[in-house]
Amino acid sequence: MKKKELPRFLYGGDYNPEQWPEDTWSQDIKVFKQADINSATINVFSWALLEPREGKYDFSKLDRIVKNLSAADFDIVMATSTAAMPAWMFKKYPDVARVDYQGRRHVFGQRHNFCPNSANYQRLASDLVEKLAARYGDNPHIVAWHINNEYGGNCYCDNCAAAFRQWLKDRYQTLDNLNRAWNMNVWSHTIYDWDEITVPNELGDAWGPEGSETIVAGLSIDYLRFQSESMQKLFKMEKAIIEKHAPSIPVTTNFHSLPNKMVDYQAWAKDQDIISYDSYPAYDMPTYHPAFLYDLMRTLKHQPFMLMESTPAQVNWQPYSPLKRPGQMRATELQAVAHGADTVQFFQLKQATGGSEKFHGAVIAHSGRTDTRAFKEVARLGQDLQKVGPTIKGSNSQARVAIIFDWSNFWSFEYVDGITKDLQYVPIILDYYRQFYERNIPTDVISVDDDFSQYDLVVAPVLYMVKPGLGTKISRYVKDGGHFMTSFMSGMVDSSDNIYTGGYPGPLKDVTGVWVEESDAIVPGKSTKVAFGDHEYDAHLMCDIIHPEGATPLAKYTSEFYAGTPAVTENQYGKGMAWYVGSRLDHDGLSRVIDHAVDQCDLHGLAGEDSDLEVTKRVTKDGQELYFILNMRNEARSLPAKFKDYHDLLTGETAQPTLQAWNVEILTK
Ligand SMILES: [Zn+2]
Repeated sequence: MKKKELPRFLYGGDYNPEQWPEDTWSQDIKVFKQADINSATINVFSWALLEPREGKYDFSKLDRIVKNLSAADFDIVMATSTAAMPAWMFKKYPDVARVDYQGRRHVFGQRHNFCPNSANYQRLASDLVEKLAARYGDNPHIVAWHINNEYGGNCYCDNCAAAFRQWLKDRYQTLDNLNRAWNMNVWSHTIYDWDEITVPNELGDAWGPEGSETIVAGLSIDYLRFQSESMQKLFKMEKAIIEKHAPSIPVTTNFHSLPNKMVDYQAWAKDQDIISYDSYPAYDMPTYHPAFLYDLMRTLKHQPFMLMESTPAQVNWQPYSPLKRPGQMRATELQAVAHGADTVQFFQLKQATGGSEKFHGAVIAHSGRTDTRAFKEVARLGQDLQKVGPTIKGSNSQARVAIIFDWSNFWSFEYVDGITKDLQYVPIILDYYRQFYERNIPTDVISVDDDFSQYDLVVAPVLYMVKPGLGTKISRYVKDGGHFMTSFMSGMVDSSDNIYTGGYPGPLKDVTGVWVEESDAIVPGKSTKVAFGDHEYDAHLMCDIIHPEGATPLAKYTSEFYAGTPAVTENQYGKGMAWYVGSRLDHDGLSRVIDHAVDQCDLHGLAGEDSDLEVTKRVTKDGQELYFILNMRNEARSLPAKFKDYHDLLTGETAQPTLQAWNVEILTK
């Protein structure tokens, strides 16, 4: 059945009235209404309250919460409570608890520590969701169902090991196939019986902190795929139950983190009716980093997403949480909207008085007062969203540039032993994303399975893993007129992490027109020089020694024994062009490469001039262009000249020529 859309632009967030005396609830609602809050996410962690003993359910308090919010005309996001298990469950069924990478089984405490392959957990979670969905499935105030919470983390227990062996049998059919895929002839690792397969473990076929180093990368990567799929199955299990009772209501789970390494969101996206994301940028995170994550979330389904959680004030769990400066909260929330969010939701609506998040910011703080700076800012944003939300909701973004982000590649790249221990996927992707962000060129963050033909430029930094067929797909895209950019550590392994022989970058050799003979590791504190014409820049991390085989050098190394050889190349291929960037260039060096590519692709920034304001565009269903102009810094900036006659939806007036610190304008003609 076709799912309904969210009925309006939701403004609200996680609300836990069960932590408070019931005679305080009506005052809460009064305060929320003062801030134009219209939505609450409830029941995220209530399992112990709902099922105090196995099979004994008590929905009386949740009934009253739902009734209270419904009477106040709130849109409810109903969670399923399956992310934190009650104490009795650990006592009665110890296998519901996860076993960690060191082989230790969790005991009661924490949350997000269920084993995805525990039949007991699956049964108990299903029973709870069945009861919830049957009870509340037809409530017209529930506008979305929110399954579990922030899935992530792995389990290494015996149940998971057994399920993994079955997963491998399905994938490889025979042990010969498996031994070949994992290249087990190395170090006498050959498997002769399925029962001999041991899951990754600190004392097993992997070492070091979880996810960092492994001996058999094929095993570890397959285990991450398997765990991500195991949790995805749990999500689908709950979703199927909800759909029996509420077939038209959208179902989601909240994605999170920077990004979450353990869960393949691209594989999960097809099962989400709408993507939802929890965003907590740290105080020292450059503003292009959350922008990248929002673009990733939007591109997962090429649709607007829900900003399911964010903080109205400080967080408490980051190492340092300075106050957001006046106006900063509003700007950071509207940044998500600028990149495609169709909701603004907070954690939390009312500040807890106990537990680990008691100092996490909230709409209603411990003082309970509304004459506070933080509350006034929440109320101002509420007014803004009430004004512009209906226009923005459902509008989409259009990009001619795409950056490839791929989870299997993420895993395999960071498992690589050598030639430098500093190989980290996200920072290198961000190097490239930042270039387009700074130029205000809209960018999608796509998977390797997306359709490339809708883009003028596809950028795939450190595309280390090239799964079968991808090399051909890239070649065809370029041959037909596309522009493609890749970098060092690309085209090296297949989907099992085995090297493509015949020279790097393997299946990308033809399209890039280069052969990489060897690569130099650049040790910390050192750099190699790279020159574009007369200008020299620093290169770090590693330097490929490149032989052009059809490509033309754009920049050359000017130091080390490979001085004079190409560092960056360009290759005309069919009707298109491919660039190969052989090192991690510093910001200004990479800027030279991107300037060149942008010029070749005839791409233009939305600001129409150099500007350190952030500018994005969303287009409504009837074609109205909405420009979001964000001043993401603590000092005033001038509005780009092209917008001077535009109309600001937030003020109802002509655009102001200066944006004060952290101010935002949403402009239309
Ligand atoms: Zn397990």
